[in-house]
Amino acid sequence: MIDQEAVLRRYAQAVEDAHAELTELDQRSGDGDFGDNLRGGLRKAVARFEAGGVSAFEALGEEFLDEVGGTSGPLLGLLFTEIAHALDGRDDDQAAAFGAGAKAGLAAIQRVGEAEVGDRTLVDALAPAVAAIPQGFAAAARAAKVGADHTAELRARMGRASYVGDRVKGEPDPGAVGIALLFWAAATVAE
Ligand code: ADP
Ligand code: MG
Ligand code: MG
Repeated sequence: MIDQEAVLRRYAQAVEDAHAELTELDQRSGDGDFGDNLRGGLRKAVARFEAGGVSAFEALGEEFLDEVGGTSGPLLGLLFTEIAHALDGRDDDQAAAFGAGAKAGLAAIQRVGEAEVGDRTLVDALAPAVAAIPQGFAAAARAAKVGADHTAELRARMGRASYVGDRVKGEPDPGAVGIALLFWAAATVAE
């Protein structure tokens, strides 16, 4: 059983703590707004959830799709919405449902954003996490972290980071780090 509210709150706190690092990473590879985009979306999602009538992941999906700018806002909104749909009404095996939702979210992100593994985007953390979910949330969190760390070796081919070429090598992609925090939050709540 996944406590969605606990995942939301843990993730929101982790992003508050990582805001400066995420901002700095996006200053190196992009325009510097990723920390604000992710933290702002999470704050709005917590407020939306507390207003009532929606699940935690529904709140995340709605706020990121409707209110968060940048490339990452709508892409993360698709992920959260798919996870919300998969969890809805599934009380039996929430871990499996979360995994199915994350898999559908990855597919939606790749349909819209057209990034493959190796392009130095959040897909580099999300794809290995989705692949590892059948082994449990701790394995998925480790896979996401390894994938995010590995983006430091990659040259960007998508998004703003592609404009700065090899200058971003040595530092991880901010979006991938943000995805690793989500799976870290899910793992600490689930296990
Ligand atoms: P922007 O570049 O528009 O300011 P953000 O700063 O909100 O957007 O988000 C940047 C992150 O978006 C990157 O670190 C990367 O992980 C992710 N990203 C960029 N382009 C794509 C894409 N085509 N597919 C998936 N993720 C992407
Ligand atoms: Mg940016
Ligand atoms: Mg921007």
